[in-house]
Amino acid sequence: MTDRLCLTSLTLSELEGYLQKIGEKPFRARQIFQGIYQRGLTDFSGFTDLPLALRQKLSEKFIINPLAIEQTASSADGTVKYLFRLPDGFYVETVLIPSGQRRTVCLSTQVGCKFRCAFCASGLNGFRRNLRPGEIVSQVLSLKYLFGHQITNLVFMGMGEPLDNLENVLKAIRILNDEQGLNFGARRMTVSTAGVIPGIRQLKNFELQINLSISLHSSIDRQRSQLMPINKKYPLPELVAAAEDYIRSGGRQLTLEYILIKDLNDSLYEAEGLAAIARRLRAKVNLIAYSPVAGLPYLRPTTEDLSRFQRWLEERKIKVTVRQSKGVDIAAACGQLAGKFQ
Ligand code: SF4
Repeated sequence: MTDRLCLTSLTLSELEGYLQKIGEKPFRARQIFQGIYQRGLTDFSGFTDLPLALRQKLSEKFIINPLAIEQTASSADGTVKYLFRLPDGFYVETVLIPSGQRRTVCLSTQVGCKFRCAFCASGLNGFRRNLRPGEIVSQVLSLKYLFGHQITNLVFMGMGEPLDNLENVLKAIRILNDEQGLNFGARRMTVSTAGVIPGIRQLKNFELQINLSISLHSSIDRQRSQLMPINKKYPLPELVAAAEDYIRSGGRQLTLEYILIKDLNDSLYEAEGLAAIARRLRAKVNLIAYSPVAGLPYLRPTTEDLSRFQRWLEERKIKVTVRQSKGVDIAAACGQLAGKFQ
């Protein structure tokens, strides 16, 4: 384990401040940012535009990318899952999901998760720790430069609950958005939540207009509490009210994620409730077929189950996109691969 700090945890202005503190010119920060984010450098010896003494100072204090690749798994549908080892020996997953022209990367924000949703592999092993901003940013850097992917969209939807690690997630977003860095547009980033209401309120005041998606998975309060224990703390009616408040501030858009589980949340009653919530929030619904997790009793719906549920929503004038969960053959549901290693 290294005790050097992660350079990709620093915003441009923090890096400028640090350089000033050690007697260097602040403009060097831009050169360092460009080297890391635009040229994909991972070793200080590659920064030939920096004086040798500064390179040495930086390499004593910092590491650029703290992630080591442990395993990759490719699915027949093009999804690729990457398992990274962190400096303290924990593991996180990052998934590349190709779809048409889009290359979406699904990022992890925590090692494990506190929220223990009944159907989810990430919650099975409990919570270990929050990821640092640089550990989130470096997932993007690794996929872009180490594995050569042209990334179009980022979703904070992998292991962990992003709004439970909000400070670090927002910092990672600022770093990814910086025009001296990857210059990733706010509209191409989506943060997902299981329903952490204080986090939604905080996000409302965030300076960048990133997208928000709420993992709903049931439109019935009692059923949702069984599937997602967080619903006991932040019940559905309060969650919907917080989401409504969010979309009213600055015309923001919202997506509702709904994992369809056979014989559990695939009834007409559920569809009617979901349609009512989506209408109230002017939200699009993203319907996802459940990806079975070893050791959990939940079933994947058939194609007919999925089409029927989609039809029920569309008959109620709700905009629905159906995502056949990708990478079923490589256990791409979040947390499955890392859970085996942890
Ligand atoms: S679905 Fe999300 S919030 Fe729920 S246990 Fe899994 S990672 Fe945590």
